[in-house]
Amino acid sequence: MSTTLLQNAEPGLKETPSAPARPSLVGLGRKEIAAHLEELGIEPKKIRMRTKQIFHWIYNYGVTEWDQMTNIAKPLRAKLADHFTLDRPEIVERLISKDGTRKYLIRMAPGIEVESVFIPDVSKTGALCVSSQVGCTLTCKFCHTGTQRLVRNLTPREIVLQVIIARDDLGEWPTTQENRRLTNIVFMGMGEPLYNTDAVGDSLDIICDPEGLGIGRRRITVSTSGVVPDIGPMGERTSAMLAISLHAANDDLRSQIMPINKKYPLAELMQACRDYPGLSNSKRITFEYVMLKGVNDSPKHAKELIKLLRGIPAKVNLIPFNPWPGSDYECSDWDTIETFADIVNRAGYASPIRTPRGRDIFAACGQLKSESEKKRASQIRAESKAAESA
Ligand code: SAH
Ligand code: SF4
Repeated sequence: MSTTLLQNAEPGLKETPSAPARPSLVGLGRKEIAAHLEELGIEPKKIRMRTKQIFHWIYNYGVTEWDQMTNIAKPLRAKLADHFTLDRPEIVERLISKDGTRKYLIRMAPGIEVESVFIPDVSKTGALCVSSQVGCTLTCKFCHTGTQRLVRNLTPREIVLQVIIARDDLGEWPTTQENRRLTNIVFMGMGEPLYNTDAVGDSLDIICDPEGLGIGRRRITVSTSGVVPDIGPMGERTSAMLAISLHAANDDLRSQIMPINKKYPLAELMQACRDYPGLSNSKRITFEYVMLKGVNDSPKHAKELIKLLRGIPAKVNLIPFNPWPGSDYECSDWDTIETFADIVNRAGYASPIRTPRGRDIFAACGQLKSESEKKRASQIRAESKAAESA
């Protein structure tokens, strides 16, 4: 197994405890950058132009030093450097699977550790699987993240930073570079994105901005376990592609393995899918279906699935179950999966069987879980203070 661990660099020069910490502007949107410039006393009529320049340097060029911003005069660069950094959060661990999948464990703040996974060779190029929460409030029985209590929602900035870190690591600046491998974003990491819709929407405004990270909205997929009331509004807000974690096509079984189904049963979920903004044959919904041995994998289940999808522009991703320590399920046999795929395929739905990626580094679907625990706010504050004055 060719697993590489990135050692964190030696701690560099520390600021004296009394020096105010300089915030990093990386990950912020235009409005927030403008507000910082205003505080700095930049002439009001120049703020828009300066914001545009800085935004472009950060997100199109990925610069890490103020002096790289060559269209900004030196004295202003120095002033900016006195007050702000272009730092990234710490990568606590970086693992590379033998199949090329890369997993990053990123410390966004004390006690807030997030995983994201880059999967090469998806859609001819590559997808970054980002997290929207630390932990998850839902407890789908087959999912490792579901065993980690929710610590908190990620901010838009913390979602954007996951993309920045992957771009840094892949060496894919500037944005305009041809043949980038990181071309797609999937919200299929830790957490339920539709319990954090505002942050997902705001992060996409930066990720999809042509002057920003430049990833088209058609290349963004938001996956949900089925938070029905937020499906339509999310589509309106983001124009993203929708994926539904379906995993069972009848209410009894789905409620057993995905408790959210008790709140939003299949009839409501499928109606929300039919109403998804922009739904068409060229903008189909992906239904994810994890293959659990002896649970949801028989030909009868496949036929149920076809019936449920009738009339919806859909494709089905069949995901072999990825085991994790303590999981109760086994992956269906290969023959069973193929038979299932054939039935769905013959009914006219594309039904690729997803090759598990990065299993050796625990980066595959449903295997993500960080050590972050829910802590009292006072404990996080104390740790944060200790980190600042270290
Ligand atoms: N919370 C969202 C986003 C996470 S996506 C959602 O549930 O859609 C992660 C995908 O991997 C989901 O489709 C999830 O159901 C699936 N998954 C979870 N555990 C898995 C496992 N052990 N093996 C394979 N897929 C799994
Ligand atoms: Fe949460 Fe999605 Fe895992 Fe369910 S499958 S526990 S919603 S991350």
